[in-house]
Amino acid sequence: MTVLDGARERRVRTGGVELCVAELGDPGRPTVVLVHGYPDSKEVWSEVAARLADAFHVVLYDVRGHGRSTAPSPLRGGFTLEKLTDDFLAVADAVSPDRPVHLVGHDWGSVQSWEFVTVKRTEGRIASFTSMSGPSLDHFGHWINKRLRRPTPRRVGQLLGQGAKSWYVYLLHTPVLPELAWRGPLGKRWPGILERVEKVPGSDYPTASLPSDAAHGAWLYRDNVRARLRRPREDAYAHAPVQLITPLGDAFLSERLYDGLELWAPRLTRRTLPAKHWVPRTRPDRLADWITEFVNATEDGRPGTAANGAYADRFGGQLVLVTGAGNGIGRATAFAFAEAGARVVAVDRDAEAAARTAELSRLIGAPDAWAETVDVSDEQAMEKLAARVAAEYGVVDVLVNNAGIGLSGSFFDTTPDDWRKVLDVNLWGVIHGCRLFGRQMAERGQGGHIVNTASAAAFQPSRALPAYGTSKAAVLMLSECLRAELAGQDIGVTAICPGLVNTNITSTAHFAGADAEEEKRLQRRTARLYGARNYPPEKVADAVLEAIVHNRAVVPVTPEARGAHLLSRFAPRVLRGLARVKPPL
Ligand code: NAD
Repeated sequence: MTVLDGARERRVRTGGVELCVAELGDPGRPTVVLVHGYPDSKEVWSEVAARLADAFHVVLYDVRGHGRSTAPSPLRGGFTLEKLTDDFLAVADAVSPDRPVHLVGHDWGSVQSWEFVTVKRTEGRIASFTSMSGPSLDHFGHWINKRLRRPTPRRVGQLLGQGAKSWYVYLLHTPVLPELAWRGPLGKRWPGILERVEKVPGSDYPTASLPSDAAHGAWLYRDNVRARLRRPREDAYAHAPVQLITPLGDAFLSERLYDGLELWAPRLTRRTLPAKHWVPRTRPDRLADWITEFVNATEDGRPGTAANGAYADRFGGQLVLVTGAGNGIGRATAFAFAEAGARVVAVDRDAEAAARTAELSRLIGAPDAWAETVDVSDEQAMEKLAARVAAEYGVVDVLVNNAGIGLSGSFFDTTPDDWRKVLDVNLWGVIHGCRLFGRQMAERGQGGHIVNTASAAAFQPSRALPAYGTSKAAVLMLSECLRAELAGQDIGVTAICPGLVNTNITSTAHFAGADAEEEKRLQRRTARLYGARNYPPEKVADAVLEAIVHNRAVVPVTPEARGAHLLSRFAPRVLRGLARVKPPL
């Protein structure tokens, strides 16, 4: 995709400047206006705009003094929020005279959009606002004042934290130097810095206008920041629903800035994203999905109806695929994601069970859920599944390789066929999933997460579980290796290691060396033991979501799994001793 391919352009005159406005998509559809930040031009939105253009009338404009818009003369005083609001209204009137527009802003585009959505004269012209990486200067001013007036150690820490992240704002207030730097060495180096530090993929962005965008844009700060932070408006309430997207790895803005934002924006939907500052370049798929969902919800008169389960801000709208989702831990995991508003693909070899999970997921809160009947050990079937999912639903954001089967019995009772079965499902199923869906994630280059269900048996040897334990230890090592390989691509990998969890696995587990009747007896006995232990699969599901949010590598779940994990690290001889204990049969 090249920068704004196929866009229609027009010039809009306002307040002594001429703005360059680009349009994509059908003007009959709801209008989405994308406002760029600093130091940028409208091209920062090219990837997001291309993804929105099928569904919406997408409008982008170069802020005055940026890209191919002209600059005010003189520069000083030409970039006040009042003038930027005039510009926005002129663009909105030109592109959508009869209907309010959906506003989306990044960085300074968001800072100014907060002004647009909180001043009286734009009332009725804005249908919704999606904000990313740019707070309202008024809200920021009140945020600072509150912490100065009633300082507690935590509040002072928050002030100092944000103060340290704002170093560049102080620099931009110095005269002339920023202009010299941007027109000289910094301007030349900037694309390389973005690529290295922010992981912005190299492309035809940033454009050639960068040095003058950055030099002119310094006036955005000089004309507004000090004055507004000193005297923030008291009535800066949003008159449209707001979607706040917070990148968690933003080097310039602390998440804490948005604490209490509901006071200013009562119809608020929060989203978080494990990403750095330049999300329009690094996460266009996610942003386009969230913008689409929010705009459609607002158009239907139900803004803010996004799921509100735990972690809804993080997983809402994400595509999550869970294998072995028909029962037990997989099913509970699918439900937890559904509650958080994720779109769920429930995969199981049991068609009916998968369909039930998908159906219930929709009832619980998933905006969409689908069932897929696949045996994870079947390489070709998995390849077809990966191709089908990519074509019909997109690249998965979260993959949970959970399908697994139980196998108990001594090493010499375990037949080669038993070994093959357990390794085929427990190990090869995970390998297929990681290989196929992991590759799609890596190629997309927009991050993601893979969770593999291992077991406490991965680090706890036992004479009763040689094959099962081996399969799970392999899953644990595979997860660690893959985690190392994918770390540079913002894809996390987690091995979940539950202990005894009360699921149906006990009634389907195979007991090597036992005849059919004996096997039934052993299954019943184990089921009673797991039932008495009664650790619910829902708690494992919670641990899965939490592990992703915190990008954890290895997560033992249940106290006995945590205990075994500690022993394996600090007292492995104790575990070896326990491994020799003959299971009561
Ligand atoms: P479960 O039997 O309740 O559910 C497993 C699901 O996986 C079932 O719906 C089954 O149909 C499906 N499945 C099995 N083989 C499949 C295949 N080849 N292709 C597609 N689907 C398949 O079991 P559970 O306890 O929920 O186990 C889930 C995972 O957790 C497994 O990997 C298991 O090894 C692991 N685990 C379970 C426990 C426990 O105590 N229950 C402990 C540690 C690890």
